[in-house]
Amino acid sequence: MLNKIEHLGIAVKSIEKSAKMYEALLGKPSYKTEAVESEGVSTLFFQIGDSKIELLEATNPESPIAKFIEKKGEGIHHIAYDVSDIESELERLKSEGFQLIHKTPKDGADNKRIAFLHPKSTGGVLVELCEEKGKS
Ligand code: ZN
Repeated sequence: MLNKIEHLGIAVKSIEKSAKMYEALLGKPSYKTEAVESEGVSTLFFQIGDSKIELLEATNPESPIAKFIEKKGEGIHHIAYDVSDIESELERLKSEGFQLIHKTPKDGADNKRIAFLHPKSTGGVLVELCEEKGKS
């Protein structure tokens, strides 16, 4: 079971430029910036009630974010759902016929273990599962 929308991931060309617009839009500053080397991204987080907005900027041309922006331009990149037990959710979703990009969870930004589902199997929307580290 997916608990809630943990965050929306939004691909941007420049976090520095987009941060100003998002601060103005949301009426509050970001609370965290973090690089995820393995994904070739820098991230910036805003807290919105129980959910978050994650801005994603590519740190190299091979980054999935660079490829996404090249194809589709800036915009919503993924929806991330909070789960309590990521291994059992991956197992369940696999048995439901969803295509896993990551068969086992990996380290993500903001103290999370994460895994992605392929948009081919989720109606064109890239889906991230995330489990808070140290919870279970
Ligand atoms: Zn994310």
